[in-house]
Amino acid sequence: MISVIFKALGTTNSIRIDAAQDQVAAEEAIQRAEKRVLALHDKLSVFQPESELSLLNAAAGCNSIPVSEDTMFLLSESKRYSRLSRGAFSISTRVLSSLWSIHARCGTIPSRSEVEHALSLVSDEDIVLDEANQTAMLARFGQSVDLGAIAKGYAADEVRRILLEGGVTSALINLGGTVISIGESRYIGIQHPDRLTGIAMGRVSLRDRCAVTSGDYERYYEVDGVRYHHIVDPRTGYPSRADIRGVTLIGESALALDAISTAVFVLGAQQGLPLIQDAGAEAVFVTRSLDVFCTDGLRDQFELFSTKSI
Ligand code: AMP
Ligand code: MG
Repeated sequence: MISVIFKALGTTNSIRIDAAQDQVAAEEAIQRAEKRVLALHDKLSVFQPESELSLLNAAAGCNSIPVSEDTMFLLSESKRYSRLSRGAFSISTRVLSSLWSIHARCGTIPSRSEVEHALSLVSDEDIVLDEANQTAMLARFGQSVDLGAIAKGYAADEVRRILLEGGVTSALINLGGTVISIGESRYIGIQHPDRLTGIAMGRVSLRDRCAVTSGDYERYYEVDGVRYHHIVDPRTGYPSRADIRGVTLIGESALALDAISTAVFVLGAQQGLPLIQDAGAEAVFVTRSLDVFCTDGLRDQFELFSTKSI
């Protein structure tokens, strides 16, 4: 068994290899995988002033900037998921996320006019990509993007690719809750929204597939007993108020599931279902009343512990 734990992409990441064709190749693969995630972090973090994404945001409305293949790919995929979800997934919600996070620090909520101003800058159609010249630009001054809703998924797919290329036959990848199990069935807990991290309402067995979760308990603050969480509804400018507390998607591509889980969290279970089905994914939903239900394809893999009594 070989493992690494490291911080990147705003979270704690772990990669564990349980079996491989060749021990030396596996050790090299795990190092390469960690380096790859750290390199993605350096390009994509909006908290590092020199990252490609920070340079893109700083040049909004002004000029285009050269971007790497990774950044170009993720911006282009993000635009695609924005269209597919009719704007529920929009990386240009960063203007709103920044506004809400400033207020979170002060324990206040933004005024209607602050929200409206930020909302007027949200449009993923304003992300202008020039694939031939490998440049990107945000059309309007003040616009800003972040890939927090999709980057971990892409990074997890990349880690899997590198491990498989290195002859790994059994491994568990966990990038801050975006999980891929290679080679063996492993259980993934469905987090209880109101309990300590790690207390699960149920579990799903996962083999050679990914599990990605979006929930209102992952990051939030409260004012006068109202919870304001980190996933913003780009239609209203407020934290989404859908009928679910959490959604876990199971499927092939972590990138696709990451984008879709965020969109579904905004749209709610019913409106989000076509996106899930089109991606060939399965889902577990935790509702506001703490009921848990899953799509048909998960019947044999999902086990409910107990709901409200936990
Ligand atoms: P996730 O945990 O994958 O659902 O992603 C949540 C993160 O994505 C947030 O912390 C924000 O950085 C960003 N975000 C918030 N709302 C949206 C949205 N509607 N579309 C795309 N990204 C968002
Ligand atoms: Mg996501």
